[in-house]
Amino acid sequence: MTADATAVPEADWDRAVALVRAADTVALACHVTPDGDALGSMLGFGLALRAAGKHVVASFGDRGFTVPRLLRFLPGQDLLVEPAAYPAEPSLMMTFDASTMDRLGLLAPNAGKAAELVVVDHHVSNTRFGSLHLVDPGAASTTMLVERLAGRLGLTVDRDVATCLYAGLVTDTGSFRYSATTPAAHAMAGRLIAAGLDPDAIARELWDRSPFAYLRVLGAALDRVTLEPAGAGGRGLVWTYLTRADRARHGLPYDEVEGVIDVIRRVDEAEVAVVLKEDDEGGWNVSTRSKGAVDVARACTALGGGGHPCAAGFSSTLSPEETMASLRPLLTPDAA
Ligand code: 5GP
Ligand code: MN
Repeated sequence: MTADATAVPEADWDRAVALVRAADTVALACHVTPDGDALGSMLGFGLALRAAGKHVVASFGDRGFTVPRLLRFLPGQDLLVEPAAYPAEPSLMMTFDASTMDRLGLLAPNAGKAAELVVVDHHVSNTRFGSLHLVDPGAASTTMLVERLAGRLGLTVDRDVATCLYAGLVTDTGSFRYSATTPAAHAMAGRLIAAGLDPDAIARELWDRSPFAYLRVLGAALDRVTLEPAGAGGRGLVWTYLTRADRARHGLPYDEVEGVIDVIRRVDEAEVAVVLKEDDEGGWNVSTRSKGAVDVARACTALGGGGHPCAAGFSSTLSPEETMASLRPLLTPDAA
């Protein structure tokens, strides 16, 4: 899908600009268990707004409320407040990278009571749950919409803002490897790098560091990896899982296992890769990836989750085998 300049009507941009200009306080939120695009788009916009004199609060609705270790390098974390300290009835609330109200977790009631709710997102599955929608499924990341809005507001994209936006852009394009890698994505990266950020330092923070324990836990995941050549309509399915006991054995926090799917999905013999990760409470988060022939967002949406055609997820309370039994039949190639 390519970026569509008309995905957001001009009148909606104008209304978003007017709402932000008129607000003294803007309450920002991104989706639960935030990734680089969720946190990067929210904090980047928050920093730019604060520099323009707005009062800004930012949060995400996780019970534990901790920023994943690999995103702690992002500037702007002083904007963050715990969900309990978030305005109960914000006059202007803006959400980032959240495709549904559910993805706001504990902040969904706040969003429900917001006088104006501006939804900034790029998921094709976005349910348009706000009062105004800046949603472009052709945008490589939510940070692209933030850059456009910041430009229309005349906000300054300084080095810190650029670092946040770049983190979202490289996360969602997989370092300019996924199909979301458009000319517009590269052009935006060029503008952000020109603002003075450090691409190699950001890449190292996001992908090239782990505690030693990660290798042990990865080893456990690789030990039980399964290849099902008949899976995904005969195109091959590769999957594995990680228990909280695996992590406890080596003292590895949950937020360190996000990269396991990137190892599993490289297998030539499989169109679809799945990693099931047990969190500290015993719930399971399921990451799915496809190489293009199978729409994993459709499969995950059917199981209560969502995402993009090639990268999607859902959560489950069942055992890995039971979860796979419900997922397997949904992993069918699109009709040609
Ligand atoms: P990941 O596997 O990296 O956690 O997620 C991949 C993609 O799927 C991301 O775009 C993410 O937002 C989406 N996703 C992951 N889990 C869920 C979920 O439980 N619900 C929804 N709606 N989307 C999810
Ligand atoms: Mn995103």
